Amino acid sequence: MTSARTRARLVERLRGQGIQNELVLQIMGQIPRHEFIDEALSHKAYDDTSLPIGFGQTISQPYIVARMSELAATVPERKQVLEIGTGCGYQTAILAKLFKTVHTIERIGGLVRNTRDRLSRLGVHNARLRHADGSLGLPDLAPFDAILITAAAPIVPENLINQLSDGGRLIFPVGSQNQELRMIERQGESYFETRLEKVNFVPLLTGVL
Ligand code: SAH
Repeated sequence: MTSARTRARLVERLRGQGIQNELVLQIMGQIPRHEFIDEALSHKAYDDTSLPIGFGQTISQPYIVARMSELAATVPERKQVLEIGTGCGYQTAILAKLFKTVHTIERIGGLVRNTRDRLSRLGVHNARLRHADGSLGLPDLAPFDAILITAAAPIVPENLINQLSDGGRLIFPVGSQNQELRMIERQGESYFETRLEKVNFVPLLTGVL
């Protein structure tokens, strides 16, 4: 279904969109995105678009996955990363190649089960999936070298900055109608916030299903 040429085109397009990290580009060229979506949509798997994955959720657009991965990839150490919003596990699979361990939280049980099977089939063995509301992070396993939230919170999730290691980065979309990608970086006891670009994510919701 996917030729090396299709994936090479994806990588070239990402480069044209400004993605520069060679490791991230290489990984984006390796991960078979069609494996993360329904077969009926697989002809669109390498388009630069988000797609439905069931349960009213979506797989993120390749550009934004690459962008968030690139921001996460340049932390001082890549030991453990926390992802909030596993969905189909596409971003998880990419983080699994960048970090020693990925902890990822999803609130929809059906997605957790499907994604756990998918990642094991694809040979991703360093991702720990958890069925829970991820808004509070995982204080017991902190600190994390990076925390990515792949659903938009209405306000800046300040509670999570305590779970960053020194030099660590929290990368997240914020807002409801007009969302923006932001990054908070920890330097010792100081935190620096950068406003990045306009984005469009599904909302971060509370409770589990
Ligand atoms: N990372 C995915 C994007 C999935 S969409 C990718 O690679 O494509 C965002 C996901 O966040 C959805 O599956 C949604 O159910 C989940 N989500 C929303 N609020 C959440 C919460 N509070 N805790 C955990 N997961 C949440």
